[in-house]
Amino acid sequence: MKPAAFRYHRAHDVTDAVGLLGELAAAGEDPKLIAGGQSLMPMMNFRLARPTALVDLGPLRREPALNSVRRNGSSLTIGALVTHRAVEVAELGPDFDVLSRAMRWVGHLPIRSRGTVAGSIVHGDATAEWCLLALLLDAVIVAEGPRGPREIPAEEMFHGFYTTAVEPDEVVTAVRFTRPSPRAALTEFARRHGDFAIVDAAVSIDAEHGGRVVLGGVAPAPIRVPEAEAVLDGGVPGPELFAECGEAAAAAIDPPDDAAGSAAYRRRLARTLVTRALHEAWEKGETR
Ligand SMILES: Cc1cc2nc3c(=O)[nH]c(=O)nc-3n(C[C@H](O)[C@H](O)[C@H](O)COP(=O)(O)OP(=O)(O)OC[C@H]3O[C@@H](n4cnc5c(N)ncnc54)[C@H](O)[C@@H]3O)c2cc1C
Repeated sequence: MKPAAFRYHRAHDVTDAVGLLGELAAAGEDPKLIAGGQSLMPMMNFRLARPTALVDLGPLRREPALNSVRRNGSSLTIGALVTHRAVEVAELGPDFDVLSRAMRWVGHLPIRSRGTVAGSIVHGDATAEWCLLALLLDAVIVAEGPRGPREIPAEEMFHGFYTTAVEPDEVVTAVRFTRPSPRAALTEFARRHGDFAIVDAAVSIDAEHGGRVVLGGVAPAPIRVPEAEAVLDGGVPGPELFAECGEAAAAAIDPPDDAAGSAAYRRRLARTLVTRALHEAWEKGETR
């Protein structure tokens, strides 16, 4: 399948990308940024997206700030053009290595080698691992636009089905993870290895910050489940608590019923995956 015709522009830097988006829109075009192209190109090939102009961020990979992972005190900043694969092989230390471990769930190696962290978060698939991780670790999405820079907390980022808070004239430059979590894990279930998950779960258990439970595939956007988090707060970590937390998550959600799975099936998956992720997160902390 081929995409509809579009004009192609290469951005030289972030200012240039923002300028191009503005100029093209003012000229009546419907421009879109392209980074790794691993979500946008399939959507264009299926004619689900028909931008009339693409602004390629590829040349910006040369800019160290956009293509590096940096530790600043207790937070971790990932440049917008860093690929899933670069995170998978990075040494992030115990506070953030859930990010590296979660990458094995993202598509296949060729997809991970091109797809970017920011592209995934802006695309906003309800089961995308990066979207769950952003909610798990209190990410802040840093964007640059014609009105200047702004920071979007992850909890304000995901508005619904493939809809995020980033405006069409903004360029995301980095994602800052502000919540270190040595006992954290992400797990999921997909029909085939490399497919998007039907349901995925990301959790953390942390004496200082409390527990956190995030689910994908059970609503139009990834969600935190406060009812399940409440079970973790003050409880004694172990199989009983983890099973109770899984039950609470399953009871709290109202998942969709579609061709990929019924609501009841997704609820069962949520229960199993939350419990499994909690075991993994806890055991990881014990083995350090
Ligand atoms: C077969 C297959 C399997 C996959 N499996 C998974 C999976 O299991 N889990 C998963 O999470 N993903 C999966 N993906 C998607 C993949 O992770 C993509 O890399 C990711 O969703 C988008 O990143 P990208 O850099 O390719 O973005 P692109 O496709 O280039 O862009 C995606 C969207 O983000 C916008 N955008 C990109 N960069 C920026 C920026 N810096 N600022 C503002 N807007 C920006 C674009 O305009 C576009 O709207 C899969 C893809 C394929 C083809």
